[in-house]
Amino acid sequence: MPELPEVEVIRRGLQRHLPGRTIIEITAGNKKLRLPLPRKNLKKFIRGARVTSVDRRAKFLLLAMNNGAIMVIHLGMTGRLGIFPAGTARSKHDHLQLQLDNNIQLRFNDIRRFGFITVLPPGSDTAGTMLDNLGPEPLGQDFTPDYMLKQASGKNRPLKNFLMDNRIVVGIGNIYACEILFQAGLKPDKKVSSLTLKDWGKIVASSRHVLQKAIASGGTTISDFVNESGKSGYFQLELQVYGKLGQACNCCSTPIAKKTMAGRSTFFCPKCQK
Ligand SMILES: [Zn+2]
Repeated sequence: MPELPEVEVIRRGLQRHLPGRTIIEITAGNKKLRLPLPRKNLKKFIRGARVTSVDRRAKFLLLAMNNGAIMVIHLGMTGRLGIFPAGTARSKHDHLQLQLDNNIQLRFNDIRRFGFITVLPPGSDTAGTMLDNLGPEPLGQDFTPDYMLKQASGKNRPLKNFLMDNRIVVGIGNIYACEILFQAGLKPDKKVSSLTLKDWGKIVASSRHVLQKAIASGGTTISDFVNESGKSGYFQLELQVYGKLGQACNCCSTPIAKKTMAGRSTFFCPKCQK
């Protein structure tokens, strides 16, 4: 599943190609994604509009149009975006194709169809939409040790589950939560109310470091993403604990342990993480 760094890498790729381009035609398939394709609004607000910017909120890609409409794309489990010269053969699971005014097409491909595309008409209020009730961005200025300390006050939730809660902070998925807590030296099942400001400082710093590193290593795939199909920003992560059950910890050589938390595999070093 694409996590925040992969989505950010894709955003950067799109930002280089889409702003300034007008969408002159839209071809939508018949298959239902997680939500039905918004045919009416695509025709009404996206066809003929010019892209002004490509932004990201949590794992949503937001294509802003010059008429004020926003096209929201979520990649779900297997969604991919690709940029192709017009005339390139379509793939089996291409669900949406946007023809740009420079003979280039943006295509959305999704084998499992858990992804979705929606259109916010000009002047839309995001209250009540999927963009509502989201916590701060982990790479933004509002994600601070003070903020986390306040959020955690009086709560008995396990640290890892808390960190993966989009209402607290967005976009930290299972793999990155494991890696962040390893780097911060904190046990995934610690009760959040027991963490000090200093602990939160480590978590905020580790989050930035781990996510930024992942974005940087994904950056090398941007050219693939633009030139070819099927390589939409996926990359091999340099993981320290995730998926490493029984392997020696890179810091202390203790075997990496695993437990299930909220139904998710959780990997950690029993010695380094306290
Ligand atoms: Zn260790």
